[in-house]
Amino acid sequence: MLGTFSINDKLGKRLVVILKGFPCSWGRCSFCPFAIERSFNMRDVIFTNRRIINEALKTLEKEDHKRIAVFNGSSFHELPYDTIERLRELAKRRIFEIESRSEYINISSIEALLSYYEPEKLIIRIGFEVYDEKIRENLLNKGMPNTELQRIYRLKNEVKELGLPIEFWVYVLFGIEYIPEEKVIESIKVLKRCLMV
Ligand code: SF4
Repeated sequence: MLGTFSINDKLGKRLVVILKGFPCSWGRCSFCPFAIERSFNMRDVIFTNRRIINEALKTLEKEDHKRIAVFNGSSFHELPYDTIERLRELAKRRIFEIESRSEYINISSIEALLSYYEPEKLIIRIGFEVYDEKIRENLLNKGMPNTELQRIYRLKNEVKELGLPIEFWVYVLFGIEYIPEEKVIESIKVLKRCLMV
């Protein structure tokens, strides 16, 4: 569902902003759940997102939220520039969460995001889905092999050494027949240890 939602849970109070995006440039995952959030129409994407971001700004005028979580059903980096620009006011000096495929994430793109948005902290969510590479690549068709996982692991250590205000979060998929429960449990343990701690 598109729009803005104020949520108060164990992560604290945050404003969730669900934007419209273009179809994901990868577009081959066998389980891809995103349909409503997408459009091929640039005008539709831009004007829908302007409306949602304005709604978010009005909410913040009434009640500040120190944490903003943006979802767009694919990668943040594939949003149109008009949307990227309008999110600046939301992100500045707040904890700013985005989601992205791993190929967009490197030290240059991280530094560019930090410099452009000036967030207190940037949280990047990546959908590795499952630790088992055969399931991820052959059954889910994710297009993110373990070499990507290893690269993001090294990047996590690099940003830590540089003292950049970055956290990586990982999506783990569960509840679908391709992934047995023990693989879900393994994924949570290993991916949390590699990327989130
Ligand atoms: S990367 Fe995400 S948005 Fe793109 S096809 Fe896969 S599940 Fe869908």
